[in-house]
Amino acid sequence: MHRQSDFVVYLGDLVTANNLPIPNASLYWDRAISASRSRGVPWATVFGNHDDMPFEWPPEWFSPDGVPPLRCPASPPPSTPDSGCSFRGTPRTDLMAAETGANSRLSYSSSGPRELWPGVSNYVLQVLSRRRRTRAGDDHDPALLMYFLDSGGGSYTEVVSSAQVKWFHSQSQFLNPNGRIPELIFWHIPSTAYVKVGPKAKSEIRKPCVGSINKEEVAPQAAEWGIMDALAKRPSVKAVFVGHNHGLDWCCPYQELWLCFARHTGYGGYGGWPKGARIIEVTEDPFSAVSWIRMENGSRHSHVTLSS
Ligand SMILES: [Zn+2]
Repeated sequence: MHRQSDFVVYLGDLVTANNLPIPNASLYWDRAISASRSRGVPWATVFGNHDDMPFEWPPEWFSPDGVPPLRCPASPPPSTPDSGCSFRGTPRTDLMAAETGANSRLSYSSSGPRELWPGVSNYVLQVLSRRRRTRAGDDHDPALLMYFLDSGGGSYTEVVSSAQVKWFHSQSQFLNPNGRIPELIFWHIPSTAYVKVGPKAKSEIRKPCVGSINKEEVAPQAAEWGIMDALAKRPSVKAVFVGHNHGLDWCCPYQELWLCFARHTGYGGYGGWPKGARIIEVTEDPFSAVSWIRMENGSRHSHVTLSS
């Protein structure tokens, strides 16, 4: 028997929302996260490049059925077709509002501060210590901090911006000034550091890297504006987890932390590689963080210790 997870992180590219109006996009989003919802498991999401891909004209709109009606603001009634009317689909902000709106008891996602826009999925979750529950007042530090960053893509550049780096500095200084609390980082698109430390595309995965598939080139962010330096300077940061590349599932060390790919889990998107998920197991007293891949058929591989 497999133990149920306590928490799920969806690492982005769940839907292609910008070509869909909000009722459809939120319906598909809801279906994508229904595996955890139906089991009562809480979750958090970050956005990938596909969730907010630029609008594309579907070829069938040029068939005899023609272009569907424009969506127009309710009031005032538009006098010309361009007064606020569009084929606009669902951007990040609408998707996040839909997820965190009604019936969101299990969602721990949130929209980050406005100054980080167009990035939206920027927030921190604090995992409370068990000690706090058993010996009230004894220790009020959380046991773990989980940072979620929007690595862009879709309607804007694939990047973790300089503003996000500043935000990370201020959050980590505020929540964890002495670095006593271990920290894990989640975003969608690998940073350029993944290219530097990863095995050459399609080559064997050799130690110190750990993984089972290395079938394509790392497709990194467009630029590096300091987030990797900021992370590497904090011994409390143990690992970064990304999605994006379906044909990669390795972890490699980068200075004192680990850079990990998850494993393609959903049924959409490119690549026919067997599906799986990256599991992270964290314990406190003493702290440890280990990870492995669990495949859809229940087998496990690529065990790695992130906390040594
Ligand atoms: Zn992606």
